[in-house]
Amino acid sequence: MNLQTQMSKELQDKQLFDRAKSYAYQYIDGIDEMDVFPSGQSLANLKAFDEPLPDEPGSALAVLDQLNQYGGPATIAQTGGRYFGFVNGGAVPASLGVKWLADVWDQCGGLYLTSPINAKLETVCESWLREVFGLPKETVAGFVSGTSMANLCGLAAARYQLLKNQGWDINEKGLNGAPPIRILAHEQVHASVKKTLAMLGFGKANIEWIPADEQGRIVVEALPTLDNTCLVLLQAGNVNTGAYDDFDSVCEKAKTAEAWVHIDGAFGLWAAAVQDLQYLTRGFEKADSWAVDGHKTLNTPYDSGIILCRHQDALISALQATGEYLVFSDQRDPLLYTPELSKRSRAIELWATLKYLGKAGIDEMILGFHQRAKQLEQGLADVGFEILNEVVFNQVLVRFQDDKKTRKVIEYVQKSGECWIGPSSWNGQVVIRISVCSWVTTEEDIQRTLSVFQQAANGI
Ligand SMILES: *Cc1c(COP(=O)(O)O)cnc(C)c1O
Repeated sequence: MNLQTQMSKELQDKQLFDRAKSYAYQYIDGIDEMDVFPSGQSLANLKAFDEPLPDEPGSALAVLDQLNQYGGPATIAQTGGRYFGFVNGGAVPASLGVKWLADVWDQCGGLYLTSPINAKLETVCESWLREVFGLPKETVAGFVSGTSMANLCGLAAARYQLLKNQGWDINEKGLNGAPPIRILAHEQVHASVKKTLAMLGFGKANIEWIPADEQGRIVVEALPTLDNTCLVLLQAGNVNTGAYDDFDSVCEKAKTAEAWVHIDGAFGLWAAAVQDLQYLTRGFEKADSWAVDGHKTLNTPYDSGIILCRHQDALISALQATGEYLVFSDQRDPLLYTPELSKRSRAIELWATLKYLGKAGIDEMILGFHQRAKQLEQGLADVGFEILNEVVFNQVLVRFQDDKKTRKVIEYVQKSGECWIGPSSWNGQVVIRISVCSWVTTEEDIQRTLSVFQQAANGI
């Protein structure tokens, strides 16, 4: 059988897809029992993938079987209820089901002409996100792989505009000899912001560092007088404490000066969509650009990041794409809003998640993260952990007596297979960073997690 005939058969007889479905169902049903972090044996078994690139085509079923057998056990159980590492988030079932179908469609989302449905759903998501966050009507959205990329887009738009303010067209003249941009940020700015600044030609030495307070919020009084060459970098959700900067005061200062304010709200911007937590983001709508993830707090599947920007011209000019073969339409062309040309049609899962949850569902789900975080905070304090942050959103930062003992707790918890948390450092000390951000996590999951922490503490 030649290759084309073989592939046609595999596509037509559906056995491959049936089996993938059955493996997926086993995974879903087993998630609560599996090790949250793979066991040593499962990790060692990954050597099954150390093999030469095959000389000849194989069987699709055999490829799938190998992935399931050795790959499945080496996954992180982040779709379960007790993964609290980083700020990973779960996945709303509606979004996973829709993604399955959309994966079969395999749409190239760059142009209206390459996927009208993706272009349509981007427009719908853009308008729904404006509404759910309460952003100005001129705000546009670009759909990218994550907040790192969204930060890159926002900062590129800012760079374009701040140089334009000084009569410099960066697309024409480039960075060499360009007038300076003043970048103002505090030390707690996320690694991805530093990374994207570097990619845009700004080093750490180009940043004017503003002090942060004990929760990791920018000290507004320490900001210098702003003008239209200034880029101010703020955070909705400090990656350790979950703290929010004082957007209202900073944006007021920036508005009259025509400075650009960018808010990195990867997971924390979603507080703006929750009635009881909205106070945290007060005044954030006066900023110029916002970066946020779908795949963290909103629980869309990976990869889903969004750049929101109130200056369409700056964003599109910064991410400009020209080429004779690019055929633009009078509809939305997604590639105008992202650095990518070909791209995954990721707005489909985002649309599914927003449509399924609705405003009340978003509110209920995200408030739930906050409530479970408070439950953890209380429970950990009760068994002798020191709580280091004000638990305003979904992050709980704790420590057990000293660095050494805190490390031991981390090791114990990570090895337990019951739950997973990661280390961080705060004020020069080793700390445990816990992030509650999956719809799956129940009060019982929190109880089970607290038991593991208690055992860890007792054993030290
Ligand atoms: C996760 C995170 C980022 C980076 O987002 P990715 O989706 O991982 O690219 C940026 N800023 C903050 C505050 C984050 O938590």
